[in-house]
Amino acid sequence: MSRAVFLDRDGVINRAVVREGKPYPPATLAEFEILPGVLDALRELDEAGFLLIVATNQPDVARGLQSRETVEAMHRRLRNELPLDDIKVCYEVESPASLCYKPKPGMLLEAAQERGIDLARSYMVGDRWRDVGCGRAAGCCTIFIDRGYAEALRDVPDVTCADLAQASAYILHHASLKTAKRRA
Ligand SMILES: [Mg+2]
Repeated sequence: MSRAVFLDRDGVINRAVVREGKPYPPATLAEFEILPGVLDALRELDEAGFLLIVATNQPDVARGLQSRETVEAMHRRLRNELPLDDIKVCYEVESPASLCYKPKPGMLLEAAQERGIDLARSYMVGDRWRDVGCGRAAGCCTIFIDRGYAEALRDVPDVTCADLAQASAYILHHASLKTAKRRA
């Protein structure tokens, strides 16, 4: 079975727009900026054999605040510039009926089914409590990127990092320890 690193988008891959301490997705392609260090971090994980799958909530499309075309143009850029295997998008707003809106684990479960991913040996990296909750619900190791937002975590992540480069270093170290333990 494959191992994956699931990645939240805004604040992990690209710069989030922060207003009053809270992160928002960039509104335009011009504002969409891939963060420094992200390409190298993803290359390392790719070379180590991890599937790299973005899982992002984009409720502004359903709210009429953003166009699906703009979101798709952003994702074309990500696919062109980064070694990603897939981008899962939840275009719904949060509701009890939604199975994909993080912290629901639907996007991770769907990817796991499609690609034969061992979720217990996979990782979820995100900058909000929803990402930690989603990773935990899917049974992954959870890595919280702490951007100092004005909102509380609701679950305790397995590890906290400053950025994706640190998260990648942690994953590569942690994964090699686990492999060594299984061989022993
Ligand atoms: Mg985020």
